[in-house]
Amino acid sequence: MSTNHYDLIIIGTGAGGGTLAYRLAQSGKKILILERGPFLPREKDNWNTKVVFNSDRYHNPEVWYDKDGKELHPGMSYFVGGNTKVYGAALFRLREKDFEAYQHKDGLSPAWPLKYRDFEPYYVQAEKLYMVALACGAVNSSVLMLRSANKQHPRGLANRSDLVGRNFMKHVLGSIIGVSKKPNSTIFQKTLSINDFYWGEAGYDYPMGQIQTLSKVSKEALEGNSEAYAPLTPEEVASHSIDWWLTTEDLPDPNNRVRVDGDKIILDYTENNNEPYDRLEKRWIEILKSIECGQAIMPNCSYFTEAGKTYTGKLPLDGVGHQVGTCRFGEDPTTSVLDLNCRTHDLDNLYVVDGSFFCSSGAVNPTLTIIANALRVGDHLLERMN
Ligand SMILES: Cc1cc2nc3c(=O)[nH]c(=O)nc-3n(C[C@H](O)[C@H](O)[C@H](O)COP(=O)(O)OP(=O)(O)OC[C@H]3O[C@@H](n4cnc5c(N)ncnc54)[C@H](O)[C@@H]3O)c2cc1C
Repeated sequence: MSTNHYDLIIIGTGAGGGTLAYRLAQSGKKILILERGPFLPREKDNWNTKVVFNSDRYHNPEVWYDKDGKELHPGMSYFVGGNTKVYGAALFRLREKDFEAYQHKDGLSPAWPLKYRDFEPYYVQAEKLYMVALACGAVNSSVLMLRSANKQHPRGLANRSDLVGRNFMKHVLGSIIGVSKKPNSTIFQKTLSINDFYWGEAGYDYPMGQIQTLSKVSKEALEGNSEAYAPLTPEEVASHSIDWWLTTEDLPDPNNRVRVDGDKIILDYTENNNEPYDRLEKRWIEILKSIECGQAIMPNCSYFTEAGKTYTGKLPLDGVGHQVGTCRFGEDPTTSVLDLNCRTHDLDNLYVVDGSFFCSSGAVNPTLTIIANALRVGDHLLERMN
């Protein structure tokens, strides 16, 4: 490789890297794409929720650590296409107000240096893109930069601000099952979202978040956790379940950070903005009960968790599918890692195009914004290289 010259190297092929490659394919430039994972084999188990969510067949076996040294088993996949090979494809635009400073229960969600109007044309393009396989993800990009410390960059690449890895966000997430009186035979039900509480509710002026339906649990997926569902059997739960995914914005906190210690990856993270999440969950359970979809309400143990482990409705730190914020973009090199084109302030030839650039996490799934941003950065690179 040392004898080869490339105009551009893209590391990681997920929503960010894959989209950037797609945009730059027309440039005629020599582009090297590096991906640590293999191609995802096309096989029957791709459609088996038990295998997808309750086994390590499609999860990378890496162990990360929390701030107390406890092992984390990140529910993430390393494949060509990144996590978009296993994700739910719920593609939301951030809301116009998400780009502005907004007061939350636990603090201020900061303003972005670019606004909705800057992303809007790229959202339109991103929504039109047909993605077959779409940078390393917000955690691994900062890990790579931190591990690349050298004499010129003693704190890690592009880390003069000491912000690389900081402001890690992953949403306050929860997953609950409402057992309906009527059977529900739907297979893929991730089709509905409720935004009525996004900015709060009467008597509560803080944003609470979003509710979505989730892919349907199967009897097999519930079987390892039967005790959590008693007196109902896994079969009774699965055949009558409507599954819900709850998202509340977590706020950027420089103390919430990705750290490396030798070979170890540490997520030094303390969840904030919990009250709005608890309120959202409580409110939704009340509503489910009032419409006969909450005969029983239980945590969904089959999502982002190890087989045999029982959790509450709220997801543990292993659920890092929505990781963002670790190299935030902005105009000031002392308060951001990337400039407005997602080029690092410190290095002229290094761009980060995954979820790392987010200034706040909003309360919608992040991928459409990652894709839209990669298209936007792609346009900048096309212009720059020509
Ligand atoms: C189960 C699940 C369901 C989800 N559902 C949704 C959804 O419905 N809607 C939504 O918007 N989002 C969803 N997400 C989140 C979505 O997958 C991510 O937001 C998106 O994939 C992030 O894109 P990215 O480019 O930042 O990173 P990734 O897609 O994670 O891509 C990073 C790539 O970099 C590679 N890589 C990492 N380190 C290195 C290295 N050192 N060298 C080379 N390659 C490396 C990885 O193998 C990977 O291919 C879901 C996530 C999961 C896990």
